[in-house]
Amino acid sequence: MNKYLEQDIKFLPGVGPKRAELFNKELNIYTVEDLLYYYPYKYIDRTRFYAIKEIDPSIAYIQVRGKITRFFKEGKKPKERLIAKLNDGTGVIDLVFFQGLKFVLENFEIGKEYIILGKPNLYNGSINIIHPEIEAVEKLENQINASLQPFYNTTEKLKSNFITSRTIQKLQNNLWKDMKQAIPERLPAYLLAKHRLSGLHEALFNIHFPQSNEDLRRAQFRLKFEELFLIQLGLLKQKYNRYNKSEGFVFGKVGEAFNTFYTSYLPFELTNAQKKVIKEIRKDVGSGKQMNRLVQGDVGSGKTLVALMTMLIAIDNGYQSCMMAPTEILATQHYNSIKKMLGNMNIRVELLTGSTPKKKRAQLNEALLNGSLHILIGTHALIEDTVQFKNLGFVIIDEQHRFGVAQRAKLREKNSKEPHVLVMTATPIPRTLAMTLYGDLDISVIDELPPGRKPIKTIHYYDTKRLVMFGFLRQQIELGRQVYIVYPLIKESEKLDYKDLEDGCEAISRAFPPPKYVMSVVHGKMKANEKEYSMRLFKEGKTNIMVATTVIEVGVDVPNASVMVIESAERFGLSQLHQLRGRVGRGADQSYCILMSSYKLSDDARKRLEAMVNTTDGFEIAELDLKLRGPGDIEGTQQSGLAFDLKIANLAKDGQILQYARDSALEVLENDPQLSKPENKILIYTLSEAKNKEIDWSQIS
Ligand code: ADP
Ligand code: MG
Repeated sequence: MNKYLEQDIKFLPGVGPKRAELFNKELNIYTVEDLLYYYPYKYIDRTRFYAIKEIDPSIAYIQVRGKITRFFKEGKKPKERLIAKLNDGTGVIDLVFFQGLKFVLENFEIGKEYIILGKPNLYNGSINIIHPEIEAVEKLENQINASLQPFYNTTEKLKSNFITSRTIQKLQNNLWKDMKQAIPERLPAYLLAKHRLSGLHEALFNIHFPQSNEDLRRAQFRLKFEELFLIQLGLLKQKYNRYNKSEGFVFGKVGEAFNTFYTSYLPFELTNAQKKVIKEIRKDVGSGKQMNRLVQGDVGSGKTLVALMTMLIAIDNGYQSCMMAPTEILATQHYNSIKKMLGNMNIRVELLTGSTPKKKRAQLNEALLNGSLHILIGTHALIEDTVQFKNLGFVIIDEQHRFGVAQRAKLREKNSKEPHVLVMTATPIPRTLAMTLYGDLDISVIDELPPGRKPIKTIHYYDTKRLVMFGFLRQQIELGRQVYIVYPLIKESEKLDYKDLEDGCEAISRAFPPPKYVMSVVHGKMKANEKEYSMRLFKEGKTNIMVATTVIEVGVDVPNASVMVIESAERFGLSQLHQLRGRVGRGADQSYCILMSSYKLSDDARKRLEAMVNTTDGFEIAELDLKLRGPGDIEGTQQSGLAFDLKIANLAKDGQILQYARDSALEVLENDPQLSKPENKILIYTLSEAKNKEIDWSQIS
């Protein structure tokens, strides 16, 4: 590692131990290298100066050049503020300071010319700028000239210690002025040439001091490419290695169990998407390598059937299978539907959950060990060490993001040779995210719903239409249907004016009085068994209204439910709304989703509700969700253990670069799987450095 880059920032001029500590704590910057890799988040064109008379408050950022004519204070502590009048010959604006009054008075003079940068506001009919950046004209002339001024994120703590974006820019300025040698390259020369990438030194300089938009674009491309390429290279190398050393059970034939089921029991034609995915899985499990595959399919796309048919292949080859679901209700649901589908076929399926009695457990354990039990379905009770198989060959994990990595690993270890693993998720994630989150898994997508489903009709009502909504629910219940009403919160919160479940229950029991109407209630504060009980009543049709918070989100299947009402829908994320909507539309009847909201909607909330009304395609919705929220907030990313601290690339916007980076990582590995050729040595080094710093890839599987 390069000595200069490794240097502690506290030794840099203008930093020192106290400021260094702030940089460490607030921005995770310790070394010169960290600082170089701390990128601006935006740039302002500094070649453009505004005349004060042409400023209007709709402009996002302005630069003016003028003289301070007067300072004065207004207000009493703690609301005291300092105002400086700035005149540029065309007009006057106020510069306003709430903090650092003393500093401003000591450092800036009346009559001297300054360059001011900031956001104009309209206040009492005139224009002001709060906490602008101020720089003396001659000082600016002393700096590396950047026609695009970089802006760096800081924190409140830093700002109150006078470390601003400008301070960081100055530090960068000093760094580059003092730099004695070039920053060493991290990518092989042949890749740079092939993809026409700028060198690292040049790219880093240009990201901090772009002389033109073209420079900036090239620098961004190089750095985004590097970031995404290294992640993909790490993931794909891991996948290659695992693939090469992991022998898997060979499910070489499709035999009686599969064929009998297919010809005599299958109640309907498989969709093309189901066929395609089953084929992909068959190819994997017959290959001699251990399978790690993720199946993504929207709610209702028929994943359970795919799971069952692939488990039958395992049985045909003499192996046992198990299937794990995140809750008891889901496990029971799988168990019932699989039992039903198998009819009187000679296949033994059992259920194991936390509430399975001891005696039954003992029986199950015995049957598992002697091999007479073929398919075990259950909750995480399956993971316990007492559960031992004779020959476990196939593991299916449903709704995978609810399980931790460690739990998955434990399941895989239930046989001396790792069983094949199929992970199923109903949370569609955009391709870019899947490539990164699950970059080392193979991915199958069920992108088609079984025929004959009527698309769910989605309606957005403002709260004033609640009575209309109630009337509609009554009609549906009259027809024998059931309805869900979902609330964002349990108890009213003072700050947020959202409908909450407790209030809601009251209103609903008034509008839907017993005994004609019966209501189930489920929320996160209930004990697990109370929840299960309440859900069961609804599932069995004994109640007609289910009032709930989002705890009902995952997987519960009540085909007779035809309406999903979501209260304060503006409060929910897009993927969450889509998941909730997926609870209805499971039967043959027309289903409805009604989104209730107040009139006050943010732009994003309006876009979310519009998207829900306009499409039922989960993948389309996931893409939009990623665009609106950014990758850090997408479901699945927090739980995955993958810290999404991409420094420059953005998974929502840089899908093309990601694909490009992945293809090129794949190409590198195809030519040199171990990266042992001389020209690729540098990559081993770069990867190991990146690994030390960022993400533990072994945690992701
Ligand atoms: P999910 O993908 O949400 O887990 P399920 O496996 O629960 O979906 O399937 C939803 C419903 O669709 C079930 O009632 C199932 O029997 C039915 N189904 C599955 N595949 C088909 C098919 N090819 N044709 C018709 N109905 C199907
Ligand atoms: Mg399912």
